[in-house]
Amino acid sequence: ILLGIALLFLGVAVVISYYMSKKAMTPITKAFSRQREFVADASHELRTPLSVMLSSINAMEMTAEWKKEDYSYKLLFNLKNEVKRMTQMVGDLLTLARSDLETAEQVNERFDFRPFAEKTMESVQTLADSKQINLFFEASESLIVYGDSQKFTQLLYILLDNAIKYTPNGGNVSLFLAADEKDLMMKVQDTGIGIDAKDQQQIFDRFYRTDKSRTRQIGGHGLGLAIAKWIVESYKGTIRVSSELGKGSTFTIKIPVYKSKDY
Ligand code: ADP
Repeated sequence: ILLGIALLFLGVAVVISYYMSKKAMTPITKAFSRQREFVADASHELRTPLSVMLSSINAMEMTAEWKKEDYSYKLLFNLKNEVKRMTQMVGDLLTLARSDLETAEQVNERFDFRPFAEKTMESVQTLADSKQINLFFEASESLIVYGDSQKFTQLLYILLDNAIKYTPNGGNVSLFLAADEKDLMMKVQDTGIGIDAKDQQQIFDRFYRTDKSRTRQIGGHGLGLAIAKWIVESYKGTIRVSSELGKGSTFTIKIPVYKSKDY
């Protein structure tokens, strides 16, 4: 009888604590969800005024006769850079907010990743040239994969952009791509400033940037790798970094992608 009563009490206690925790959790969960929706809506709404600002600045730049040493030209130049930076940040925030809301659709199309990779290399070439950085590209014969070409391209762009940003003038940045029946492998290697072991896991967190004094000079807002991680994980892949301060970093990505045998 005693055991029965004890079990009854235990059962009641479990039921009460379950309902209490549920009651306590619901408003918190709701608040988080409202916050995510707010970030997504706000980022979306901010894009329009930002693009109006950018096109107005471009128009101002074209219509007036500017001399590079003019104070007003310098102000306009700063304004343009800041608007561009904010546009990028708002776009990144929107991507992450949508990933939180899980409204982003998983696209799976069969495509050849090579032209996308080549285009991405072309788009970062100017940035590399401005720092006399040598870009190397090596890829396996076939890069036919299943997945989202836009997301995979965005992923590659984030890694290449970082590799160039965090590599001093005259360094090297290499991209290796390979695909087999199961996986797409991406490796981006640089001879840059490197990442301290204590930071290597945190760099994938939102807004995390390593030692502010070293990276402050280099533009960025700490969202790129969070987006990269989200893309990779949404395809059940892995992203790893190996790095040594002052020597360079290597980011390796493996994404399971089914490659059709009959291609
Ligand atoms: P951002 O580059 O905009 O600051 P990321 O999320 O892409 O944001 O990167 C987070 C941080 O990780 C960077 O601020 C930088 O400190 C570090 N990092 C990323 N890639 C590299 C790299 N290739 N070499 C050295 N540090 C890097």
